[in-house]
Amino acid sequence: MDTFDLVVIGAGPGGYVAAIRAAQLGMKVACVEKEKALGGTCLRVGCIPSKALLEASHLYAQSRHGAEKMGVRVTGLELDLPAMLAHKDAVVKANTGGVDGLFLKNKVKRYLGTGRIASQGRVVVTAADGSEQQLEAKNILIATGSVPALIPGVELDREVVCTSDEAIDFHAVPKRMVVIGGGVIGLELGSVWSRLGAEVTVVEYLPRLMAGMDEELAAAALRIFTAQGLKFRLGCRVQSAKAVGGVGRVTFIDADNTEQTLEAEKVLVAVGRKPFTDGLGLESVGVRLDNRGRIEIDDHFRTSVPGIWAIGDVVRGAMLAHKAEEEGVAAAEIMAGKAGHVNYDAIPNVVYTDPEIASVGKTEEELKAAGVPYKKGSFPFKFNGRARAMNAVDGFAKILAHAETDRILGAHIIGPQAGHLIAELVLAIDMMASSEDVARTSHAHPTLSEVIKEAALAVEKRAIHQ
Ligand code: NAD
Repeated sequence: MDTFDLVVIGAGPGGYVAAIRAAQLGMKVACVEKEKALGGTCLRVGCIPSKALLEASHLYAQSRHGAEKMGVRVTGLELDLPAMLAHKDAVVKANTGGVDGLFLKNKVKRYLGTGRIASQGRVVVTAADGSEQQLEAKNILIATGSVPALIPGVELDREVVCTSDEAIDFHAVPKRMVVIGGGVIGLELGSVWSRLGAEVTVVEYLPRLMAGMDEELAAAALRIFTAQGLKFRLGCRVQSAKAVGGVGRVTFIDADNTEQTLEAEKVLVAVGRKPFTDGLGLESVGVRLDNRGRIEIDDHFRTSVPGIWAIGDVVRGAMLAHKAEEEGVAAAEIMAGKAGHVNYDAIPNVVYTDPEIASVGKTEEELKAAGVPYKKGSFPFKFNGRARAMNAVDGFAKILAHAETDRILGAHIIGPQAGHLIAELVLAIDMMASSEDVARTSHAHPTLSEVIKEAALAVEKRAIHQ
């Protein structure tokens, strides 16, 4: 039997990063993954392929509209969807293959098959042909991620009524598309197919988009995406979605309590994800789940069974690749006797639409609910020279700082490259910086980052360019 210091089950961003960090710390590490390609949902069917499509469809949309305003007139523009999908597949292959390389370099042994915890310290790997292999492990780390959640009445056929797994690979642009769920997947993939020519309607249960994100961002997003041509039906409860004669039919109760039906060639169900723990054998070894099906862990990623740890989408907290990565590193360090730690107040959240939307720390609604006194500074992209040069002036950055100490508590951006810009404020929150610290930091001119400096100045009502 093969023996390891650590056996990681699942090679997504949580699992593969944990495996590498543990190997760096001198552990003998194995990683069990049932898919041939490493990298999990994120690299194979999530973050990476969707970003390849978002970048490519953005270029197409810019060439169709937008570019002529900057003196670039494109004639004979054509969409070559097979080539766009091939670009996406090549990006995925480069990334998943990169993880194979990292495992080789770090001497992480990869097992292809489904991992099951047979007992404390023992993992069984079942290959596709049914053959089994036993691994002995001082530590077992569960990093099996999540799968799309469904709602009652929705009949997935994965042809017409789909999840994001299929919506990154439609082989023709649907004429009409209904997206159930106005969260991050709905907005990102809804944007992709809308840019490529589909008439997209997003049906959302809540009266707003992007539940949990700052409301001012959500309101701006609704206005901007509506202007881009996306249609929104907010406050609508979906009753059923199914394919009837090859066409998707979505029935919902609208905000006026009236039943409505929409038809579309494709229906994307994007109502959240749920932890994936099937077949792990958790019950038989006594690993406890909470009432939402997540593996219960303590502050150090330990489950209810000694020697079994869990991180990422299978445990509490945001379902984000980079949150799982931080947890993977921290768990490996704690196993090695070091002081691994994750600052959950400094985990950014980004929606890769156009414009991008990015957040870190507390929202205004959270601060109000907690009775925390705060000051707010915000600055629009339309007063930024670089944003004007890019013809990308929609949106603003907002910084929330404690009213007495000036410590930055939250930052929220909707605007060009918000996903990159938020990094500065993640660092600021992690370092417990004040808004004055950011305001007094030199930001290169002319860059979009000057919007962050101005928002920080605006906390003390001394923005220069507004
Ligand atoms: P989400 O939680 O972001 O959004 C789901 C939306 O569906 C919510 O707004 C919810 O109110 C709505 N909804 C629920 N039931 C409904 C119903 N019956 N009818 C209409 N609307 C309904 O979930 P998601 O977009 O599916 O994404 C899943 C997970 O994947 C999230 O945790 C997300 O963080 C992660 N993800 C992140 C990124 C990123 O970081 N850019 C990208 C994709 C996915």
